[in-house]
Amino acid sequence: MESENQVIKTISLDQYGIKNTKINYQLSPEALQAIAIEKGQGVEADSGALAIKTGEFTGRSPQDRFIVKDDVTKDRIWWGKVNIPFEPEKFDKLYNKVVDYLSNKEVYVRDSYACADENYKLNIRVINEYPWSNQFAYNMFLRPTEAELNHFNPEWIIVNAPGFMADPEVDGTRQHNFAILDFTKKIALIGGTGYTGEIKKGIFSALNFILPVFKETMPMHCSANVGKSGDTAVFFGLSGTGKTTLSTDPNRSLIGDDEHGWTKENTIFNFEGGCYAKVINLSRDQEPEIFDAIKKGAILENVVLDDSGKVDFADTSITQNTRVSYPIHHIENIQVPSIGRNPKNIFFLTADAFGVIPPISKLTPSQAAYHFISGYTAKVAGTEAGVVEPVPSFSACFGAPFMPLHPAKYAQMLSDKMTDAGVNVWLVNTGWTGGPYGVGTRMKLKYTRAMINAVLNGDLGLYNYDDYHIHSVFGVAQPRSCPGVPTDVLSPRATWNDDEAYYTTAFKLTNAFRENFKKFEDYCTEEIRRGGPQRYAF
Ligand code: ATP
Ligand code: MN
Repeated sequence: MESENQVIKTISLDQYGIKNTKINYQLSPEALQAIAIEKGQGVEADSGALAIKTGEFTGRSPQDRFIVKDDVTKDRIWWGKVNIPFEPEKFDKLYNKVVDYLSNKEVYVRDSYACADENYKLNIRVINEYPWSNQFAYNMFLRPTEAELNHFNPEWIIVNAPGFMADPEVDGTRQHNFAILDFTKKIALIGGTGYTGEIKKGIFSALNFILPVFKETMPMHCSANVGKSGDTAVFFGLSGTGKTTLSTDPNRSLIGDDEHGWTKENTIFNFEGGCYAKVINLSRDQEPEIFDAIKKGAILENVVLDDSGKVDFADTSITQNTRVSYPIHHIENIQVPSIGRNPKNIFFLTADAFGVIPPISKLTPSQAAYHFISGYTAKVAGTEAGVVEPVPSFSACFGAPFMPLHPAKYAQMLSDKMTDAGVNVWLVNTGWTGGPYGVGTRMKLKYTRAMINAVLNGDLGLYNYDDYHIHSVFGVAQPRSCPGVPTDVLSPRATWNDDEAYYTTAFKLTNAFRENFKKFEDYCTEEIRRGGPQRYAF
């Protein structure tokens, strides 16, 4: 493991226009934690973890994410509401203002890299206004060895100034916060927000452009782990669907919890060096590996602690999106380096709050392509009094906000790779059972884990047609039995005890699928279109 010693090397930031600053270069996480506490920016929890508040923003702000439109990007990016163009001249001006703001101050600088596979390594220099943001970068990016640091050549830089407020009128931003990628200058410029997720997802978005365009590699918003026989499993899904939770499995080595590349050499590699887990309602009983990863070095975000430093994970008074970041070696069973072979099984996770999608089903190749392009999950509006309708949420490739290219590009790459590798694709509903949100309950984590284990152990007999029921609405193959799971849980309709209500709700959802898919129809083959639901409301 990397040495925790202070690095003697010194660097200058003059080349970036940051002048007369006190540079804290490559400080250890311990030193950064001590500084954050001393400056009153955080406290130490009883676990030893640092607890900080990210400020005004406790989540990403997708509407304030821009890409500089220039010769490198103009004909390649899928411009629109997701990838919002920013003028190069405006970028230069704003960049100069940010570096002026950081000049004559104190900054925290860390050299790190993304991509665990040597052949795809991307060196990153992270320049932070705050010590805890720099510790986040230590946790989440890969950590170079001392030898590597001695000849470190930064390719991308992240300039992160949460305290800098843009002036939208002058600067061309939407409001005072922004996250802007410049692919020519190779800069991620982040200001006006202290939310750490912007740092990791900034580089993710950059890689989602660089890897497919220049390196023939399929970037994926997914987690991954590997079994004892070397069998890789991949879990796609939008936020909150279970990527981090389900990939952290004591019996399988963790490759990574959020961002991976699938190479032409038939390998999967992690982009990151750490995990970023949701901690809402976290319990040692349900998720012991994640719970125990919260120790010295981990950073808790926006949680509420009592006077003794004990965290109340049920307290969502700051945000529902409470988080912890930790270096991947805080998890016991990990793959080193974070690389696996071609996956055998791919899971599409969805938290279906309508409670109509089967808890596990097998997809045909056309269904897999259709569901990948659709990227369905559901949002549950607030937890306030009264029953609230779930809202369907579609995000292409299970990660539209981070995908600079047209979704069809990623879909084609995935489809080719899946065919080559002969993988099985499963749709897993980690959401509601026994009725929609407000009536039913969230699927027991124990059952979801049992279903995934059954797939990975080869216990869901793929060979016998009679073992499956083709769902009359979604057309997917629903297993009739599964070890460790009560049989009635496997059929969502059976858990509702009200066929009419079940079908009415299912059709509501399939109509939403159809509506959402319209914008992709022209880009898809008839075969992919046939992968959609089989029945709709009239
Ligand atoms: P992000 O992309 O934001 O990191 P994620 O896909 O990694 O999101 P998780 O952090 O794994 O999502 O969040 C899943 C949440 O749902 C956890 O808080 C977990 O405890 C909870 N949960 C409840 N029931 C289940 C279930 N059956 N399967 C998976 N997760 C469940
Ligand atoms: Mn996650």
